[in-house]
Amino acid sequence: MTDKSYDAIVIGGGPGGYIAAIRLGQLGQKTLVVERESIGGVCLNWGCIPSKALIHAASLADHARHAESMGITVSDVKVDATKLQAWKEGIVKRLTSGVGGLIKANGGTVVNGTAKLTGAHTVLVEKTDGKSESYVARKGIIIATGTSVVQIPSMPFDGKTIVSAKEAVSFPEIPKTLVIIGGGIIGMELGGVYQKLGSKVIVVEALPRILNGVDEDLVNVVEKRFTAAGGEVLTSAKAKSAKVKDGIATVEVEHGGKSRTIEADKVLVAVGFKPRSQDLGLQEFGVKTDERGHILVDEQLRTNVQGIYAVGDVTGVPYLAHRAYKQGEVAAEVIAGKKAACDYRAMPSAIFTDPEIATVGVSETEAKEKGLAVKVGKFPLVASGRALALNDHTGFVKTIVDAATGQVIGAQIVGPEASELIAEPTLAIEMCAYAEDVTLTVHAHPTLGESVAESLRHAFKEALHILNK
Ligand SMILES: Cc1cc2nc3c(=O)[nH]c(=O)nc-3n(C[C@H](O)[C@H](O)[C@H](O)COP(=O)(O)OP(=O)(O)OC[C@H]3O[C@@H](n4cnc5c(N)ncnc54)[C@H](O)[C@@H]3O)c2cc1C
Repeated sequence: MTDKSYDAIVIGGGPGGYIAAIRLGQLGQKTLVVERESIGGVCLNWGCIPSKALIHAASLADHARHAESMGITVSDVKVDATKLQAWKEGIVKRLTSGVGGLIKANGGTVVNGTAKLTGAHTVLVEKTDGKSESYVARKGIIIATGTSVVQIPSMPFDGKTIVSAKEAVSFPEIPKTLVIIGGGIIGMELGGVYQKLGSKVIVVEALPRILNGVDEDLVNVVEKRFTAAGGEVLTSAKAKSAKVKDGIATVEVEHGGKSRTIEADKVLVAVGFKPRSQDLGLQEFGVKTDERGHILVDEQLRTNVQGIYAVGDVTGVPYLAHRAYKQGEVAAEVIAGKKAACDYRAMPSAIFTDPEIATVGVSETEAKEKGLAVKVGKFPLVASGRALALNDHTGFVKTIVDAATGQVIGAQIVGPEASELIAEPTLAIEMCAYAEDVTLTVHAHPTLGESVAESLRHAFKEALHILNK
């Protein structure tokens, strides 16, 4: 074994880890990244990017099938699952090698292997080539190990028929019937993909609503479109077990006081993730975690042990790549001696269902629950010329304004490009902008962005393209 010394060691090369490494390099810190699988983590390899590639392709097929009202008839839309996968894999390869290149170009070193802390400044790596090496971090160790998928004991993953999202973004064939256990973000995003690619999709959700945590009026728009297209949503339903025989799964579900047996050629279990904080040796150094195992950090991503930092999903919910990015950037800056801290007030969230949902800041429900004095503006997309021209006008932009100050404190959007539209209210919240700052800004016409300004005008009964009831 040889000793090697770095300013910082980053464990995990996902969004939290790779951004930390790039930023550390930019700030002149000698940095080592330890990654046991592939640079890019969940997000690039089988999460955000592959799922969004599939969503785009599936939407294209769907649009082609449903363009008659615009006078366009496309007959016989076929999906070649092998080619689709190859295209998606090409995107993944391009991005992961790009990120690996960026780490190196910024002076970082990547080592493939599994890391474990052996001290507050030392890391032991069991390399993929079978050798072990010990490394020293002079200024800090950043733990960015993410999460792993939760299994349901009565429906164990077999990697083929009963699977997690990791396999579901790489199905070699389009399943005829897909049962999804868990109507959260991942379940509904991938459910949308396979529905549009031709699968019969049945979502089984234990809670009374899908997309738990998102305001009901937004969720209703998505659920309505999903079910109108033939998808089935079973809420307050308990998936009891799934068994596989001859490549076909039999799923036992309890719903509405009755038992139901559903046969499917694929079952996606998407019931959550758990932090990967075990097996790192953290307990031996007294690094504190919550009861689920998330590493506790302060706003500078410091754990309770000096020199040990943590970023990304391993630090808790919401599990979002851009939250991991932000934390990675801040941790790197803190290690490099800069003044930096994380502020989660303007943390957007985007759900790539059909239509998309995007939220930031305070929601209407939260404002009510907390008794906040707010003005709520709502602009329906049916009044947006751009949305009509896109042939996609279901949904709305809702904005929340602090009644006392007139500052923008929240936005919830359901509709086309919601994930892009959320950037403007996010910037407004980050800058503590007043609603007026947005409404006085000229928005290009015709754009969906006009709807954000109109929603804020509506909060003051001054919208120009709808009646201000
Ligand atoms: C299907 C799907 C779709 C998603 N879509 C979105 C989306 O659209 N937008 C969004 O914001 N988020 C999305 N997410 C969530 C997003 O992927 C995560 O929030 C993000 O990847 C978290 O980044 P991270 O760096 O914390 O961890 P990860 O991406 O999990 O990376 C952790 C890395 O650490 C490595 N590692 C773990 N332990 C060790 C060890 N001991 N030694 C060495 N290496 C180790 C792992 O191999 C892994 O590469 C999606 C997730 C899934 C599953």
